[in-house]
Amino acid sequence: MLEIRNLHKAFGSLEVLKGIDVNLEKGKVLAIIGPSGSGKTTLLRCINLLEMPDQGTMKLSDRELNFQPGRKIASREVTELRKRTGMVFQSYNLFPHKNVMDNIMEGPVVVQKKDKAQAFKTAQGLLEKVGLGDRGHYYPHQLSGGQQQRVGIARAMAMEPDVLLFDEPTSALDPELVGEVLRVIKQLALEGRTMVIVTHEMKFAADVADHVILMDGGHIIEQGPPDQVINHPQSARAQQFMNRIS
Ligand code: ATP
Repeated sequence: MLEIRNLHKAFGSLEVLKGIDVNLEKGKVLAIIGPSGSGKTTLLRCINLLEMPDQGTMKLSDRELNFQPGRKIASREVTELRKRTGMVFQSYNLFPHKNVMDNIMEGPVVVQKKDKAQAFKTAQGLLEKVGLGDRGHYYPHQLSGGQQQRVGIARAMAMEPDVLLFDEPTSALDPELVGEVLRVIKQLALEGRTMVIVTHEMKFAADVADHVILMDGGHIIEQGPPDQVINHPQSARAQQFMNRIS
């Protein structure tokens, strides 16, 4: 489903990803963990080309891209790849002037040119799935952060992506609102959605992920099943990181 080989990304002289390899099968959940500044968000944003990798290859479903310095990826290729991803942002990124229903329907109707009545029905089903079936006419500012993030998840799913990408989906939330968002993500995992989740919530990563990668300084320093990476890290650097946060 998702295969990344030798991915590199720099911002000017700052090398942020230094040769990343990732394999993710359909229906599996990958958690990306690691210290601040290690490149987690950059890797996630490279997957939907919000950041353009400098070098490496990436295969997502039926699309394969080869990045080389100085070689521009055609905008048609970018669009095709993005269609296969759904992004959930740390800060929700809902349109403030649109109500919840219109936020969810925007992509299917405007981008995918879907029939409005059908898009409405799908959006209502997704809202019910995230526990907000009665909130379609609310505006984002009338919702809690946890509710806004659940709308963000419904909006990402409305585009029927092959993979859902979560960028620290709970880090902007008050602690008491974290659980409701994590429960929705956990439910999606149980339904067999393919997901990549950047998170600082180690217990959640251990609970929901099939595979965990631990990044440090632009490298993957450890990867494997959650119990191995989180509870029994092998390298001294990984042990140091886990000890510091536990
Ligand atoms: P955190 O856990 O704090 O979110 P992270 O592991 O997700 O960190 P990234 O956000 O990927 O790390 O950032 C890695 C490095 O790249 C940091 O030094 C950051 O300042 C830098 N960086 C990220 N985006 C840009 C950008 N658009 N321009 C310049 N530097 C950037």
